[in-house]
Amino acid sequence: MANGTVQAVRPVSDPDRIGRIGPTEGRGLSPAGCGTSGGSLVVFVCAGCGATLSAPVERVVLPDHAHRQWGNGVLMPVLMEPGTYAVDPARWGPPWRPWDEVGEAGAAALGVFAPVYRVSLGAAGAVVLAPGDVRGTVLVPERCVGYCCGLDGSSGPNLACTRCGRMVGARIDDCSLWQSVRLEADAVRRVGGDSECPGWEEALAAARWEKAPGGPWPERPLELWNRAVAYEGVWEAAAGVALARLVAVAAGVRMVWEGPLSVLFSAAWEALFPVGASRLRVALAGPGVGEPDADVLVVPVHPRSGAVWRPSGSVPVVPLAAGAWAHLALPGGPELAVVSGRVPEEVLRGEVSVEMLSCRRSRPDREVFLDVLARLPQVREPGVRAVYDRVRGEWGLF
Ligand SMILES: [Zn+2]
Ligand SMILES: [Zn+2]
Repeated sequence: MANGTVQAVRPVSDPDRIGRIGPTEGRGLSPAGCGTSGGSLVVFVCAGCGATLSAPVERVVLPDHAHRQWGNGVLMPVLMEPGTYAVDPARWGPPWRPWDEVGEAGAAALGVFAPVYRVSLGAAGAVVLAPGDVRGTVLVPERCVGYCCGLDGSSGPNLACTRCGRMVGARIDDCSLWQSVRLEADAVRRVGGDSECPGWEEALAAARWEKAPGGPWPERPLELWNRAVAYEGVWEAAAGVALARLVAVAAGVRMVWEGPLSVLFSAAWEALFPVGASRLRVALAGPGVGEPDADVLVVPVHPRSGAVWRPSGSVPVVPLAAGAWAHLALPGGPELAVVSGRVPEEVLRGEVSVEMLSCRRSRPDREVFLDVLARLPQVREPGVRAVYDRVRGEWGLF
């Protein structure tokens, strides 16, 4: 949703000048995941012959870490929960073209507003499923491209409809990649209506991540260690998405983080904006928490519909993945929450329990941060673009 209504926060705070992020911008926020009452589950069928290509599935939001790769040689878990599907709102997959070849205007037309290594000219709207929920397809050996341990989907579809032979999607399971099947938007049809979404409180309670980020590094064989880090990366990806959105609305402004938000964002924010006079208060807001008096509110994304929770006032919001938001905001969460050895203790003191300092880092994911920020129209504003360029050019800034 490229529009001109979102403005960056100026160093001298004026809440009326803070823009708002629309609910449909960027990855993981596609709307309309839920249907009306009477809808049930959806089945995907081949657009060519009508053959069934999936088990009955229910729509959810695409996880923030869907495109993130980790480690080397590590067999990754399955991306999607059994019985669910997501629609990837971003263009992803081949053909890829170098930034220089596509050009700024060409990239913008494809939804990328800052330089990236390569731009996907692939179609948006792929249907993402767990491999176990796919039916009636066969791998096409000559289309099975990968590197060393499996298939990476880098040459496009590698799965054909068993009945009619039409290429319908790609199975992806090479090392470092979350296992999934991506059905091409124009190769399948959806049969049935999405079921009605549960209300906010029920949906958030169900989506709440039980495992806290941070914690001691697992003492495991290397391959399991890698995998444990990948799970940790789920938190880091969610924080990376939210950090990109925070930068889009408040680049250059110093922040006061309320409660557990500090451990997710304060170290990265201080690295990005070490000086400055003004201080904006950032707080969690949402169902069961209400609307604290703050300048920016971190609110949940509905895990089924993708809707962003809205406060009643005009305070700008930054969406956070439902599982992360619920863990931090709902009872039983904050005391277990993240811990970052990289957060200066004085920043944390008085805001979170000192016990939380004992565990290891948790940081926003740099790659996810850059990927999301490059797709936000606000990255064209000089202050935001400067942050993007700096993070891109400086490894390990946060
Ligand atoms: Zn491998
Ligand atoms: Zn078919």
